[in-house]
Amino acid sequence: MFQKIKHIIDNGKKFLITTHIDPDGDALGSALSMHWVLESLGKKSVVYLKDQIPYRYKFLPAPSSITHELPKDRFDAIFVLDCGNLFRVGDGYEKLRELGTIINIDHHDTNETFGEINLINTGACSTAEVIYGLFHSLHVPLSYKMAINIYTAIFTDTGSFRYENTNSSAFLICEEMLRLGVSPSYVSQMVYENHPKERFRLFGLILTTLETYDEDRIAIACVTQEMFKKTGTSREHSDGFVETLREIKGIEVAVLLRELDSNKYKASMRAKGNVDVARICNVFGGGGHKSAAGCTIDGNIEEVKVKIKGALSIEADI
Ligand code: 5GP
Ligand code: MN
Repeated sequence: MFQKIKHIIDNGKKFLITTHIDPDGDALGSALSMHWVLESLGKKSVVYLKDQIPYRYKFLPAPSSITHELPKDRFDAIFVLDCGNLFRVGDGYEKLRELGTIINIDHHDTNETFGEINLINTGACSTAEVIYGLFHSLHVPLSYKMAINIYTAIFTDTGSFRYENTNSSAFLICEEMLRLGVSPSYVSQMVYENHPKERFRLFGLILTTLETYDEDRIAIACVTQEMFKKTGTSREHSDGFVETLREIKGIEVAVLLRELDSNKYKASMRAKGNVDVARICNVFGGGGHKSAAGCTIDGNIEEVKVKIKGALSIEADI
């Protein structure tokens, strides 16, 4: 597969790189390092992101212009990174296929192999691990700009080397990135210790909604549009809070529900132990990994909670 992709890159001139909505560290680090690699090979590369870069990832070296509007021109190939399905690219994703050959590079268990070329490694800790392998086969010497993007992708997707997906490649690749000049404390401060104080006011409000069920094996909390308004915050300020809920003793599934509109919620699920939240999110048309997954659920808040508890009792015997 690496050789097939190498052939397309060698023979092409112009490439589009994209990733999922609500981009996280792996999505951005993978897309931006891919951009610097294509540039270093003398190719034209356009990065398309449906959403803006969240404040905590603004330190990542990025091209001076990232497009938030789907381009209209054709490309020799389109790299879709860290997306379990094409829908994850965001509104207008249907038009992507008209722009060129889709190369799907990912590590999600639930990947729907939607590309003409699919480079999927569900054993990889991150999409960055998969593309690092690709960069290696392209014989590209890695620069600092590539290295800090790769490091940040792996560091964040493994939850700072704490989650089950943390493997020996995570450490080996990150060790190499350190030798290329990446400072772990700098990345950690940028990602985890650089929040506006409003984030903590938002946390206060979210915490008042916390409920636990089944002898504290499930935790559910929610964040509403009203809370964002009241604290002057937005979605990006609630990122990472679901991981805090998983810290509760005995919790097997932590769920944070984010109100999209009064009858639609985005669920972020995290598991500790054996429950497979990707399977639970799949029931609602979403997906992800065994221990971290997401989906969108229709209904008012009480209906959504009932649906989740129902799916948990069927899928996970909770
Ligand atoms: P988060 O809860 O941080 O938004 O996402 C957790 C994991 O699940 C990430 O790997 C993310 O890509 C994946 N994920 C989140 N929402 C969805 C969704 O609606 N569909 C699919 N297929 N994956 C999702
Ligand atoms: Mn990822």
